[in-house]
Amino acid sequence: MKAVQYRELGGSPEVVDVPEPEPGPGQVLLRITAAGVCHSDIAVMNFSADELTFPLPLTLGHEGAGTVAALGDGVRGVEVGDSVAVYGPWGCGRCAKCAQGKENYCLRAAELGIFPPGLGAPGAIAEYMLVDDARHLVPLDGLDPVRTVPLTDAGLTPYHAIKEALPVLTPGSTAVVIGTGGLGHVAIQLLRALTPARVVALDVTERKLALAREVGAHEAVLSDDAAVARVGELTGGIGAQGVFDFVGAPPTVAIATAVASVEAAVVIVGIGGGRADVGFGSVPYDMSARAPYWGSRGELFEVFDLARSGAVDVHVERYSIDDAPLAYQRLHDGEINGRAVILPNG
Ligand code: NAD
Ligand code: ZN
Ligand code: ZN
Repeated sequence: MKAVQYRELGGSPEVVDVPEPEPGPGQVLLRITAAGVCHSDIAVMNFSADELTFPLPLTLGHEGAGTVAALGDGVRGVEVGDSVAVYGPWGCGRCAKCAQGKENYCLRAAELGIFPPGLGAPGAIAEYMLVDDARHLVPLDGLDPVRTVPLTDAGLTPYHAIKEALPVLTPGSTAVVIGTGGLGHVAIQLLRALTPARVVALDVTERKLALAREVGAHEAVLSDDAAVARVGELTGGIGAQGVFDFVGAPPTVAIATAVASVEAAVVIVGIGGGRADVGFGSVPYDMSARAPYWGSRGELFEVFDLARSGAVDVHVERYSIDDAPLAYQRLHDGEINGRAVILPNG
């Protein structure tokens, strides 16, 4: 079968032929209908040998949806032909965090060598993919796989980021979204659906800002030297109560803390190496800073329910599996508006 792999340190994604996997006991084989392309993959492909915690080659893709093609021994409750999405942050399923559905914060995954598909285990940008346990499958129940698959990360991650910040996003509040790409353009829609906050979006090109406005941002502002002053004007000098940074680089984290109000929730989601300097006197009183990772299984069900209600609509660009390397190149170059989705089986 065809798969898209990151094969050696410093290399680029390649379309290769690999054996079709067979499900072992407890595993489920999916025929992939759609797989999303996330900027984290580009970060992983820039990791040094020391930073990379799993061996190469790696089949990419941690946003996956498909139809159940075969069941390993002992699998129950799933039928061949079911249309499902994959909950990606696999955990042990048994620790205190996993027991709450927070497999993204599994206490034993590292020790047990459990990796998410596409981030250590073979991922979804392939014709077929193995899922280690049926509990990782979430029924699509009528949702379109192509427009839904990004919600498994580009929806779930901002959903978790926003949900924990809901107490400060009261009427009259402002939420700032920095970086309105795959995650950010969904974050804007989630903020509009879940909160009464005024949403101010920041990005570096007019094309991205146009999408931000289209999906519901009240204001869209260029992320330049004037951005902090502009957010100040828009909030009457008070600042934003919620700040969601989907870039997470040093300059954007600096903006994130500079636009924060007293008691603001600053949430650094992007993995661009930026750090918030939090201490008494260096940030507004009672400002909190978080750096969350992905979301829980329960939250993915909630995100899908929101999608069913029509509250979120992912802006997708479709690619064949042969064009997956092009999708990564365009994402790297900032040319994807919304999320690139690969259709490995046409
Ligand atoms: P993306 O490339 O689709 O979106 C990033 C957006 O940021 C683009 O629109 C880009 O134009 C914009 N941008 C770049 N520099 C900017 C700046 N200085 N100011 C404002 N905007 C700027 O990427 P994505 O797939 O949405 O991922 C976003 C980030 O989130 C990445 O760092 C990714 O690795 C990370 N991520 C983290 C988690 C997590 O669990 N913490 C999960 C998924 C993705
Ligand atoms: Zn991701
Ligand atoms: Zn666990």
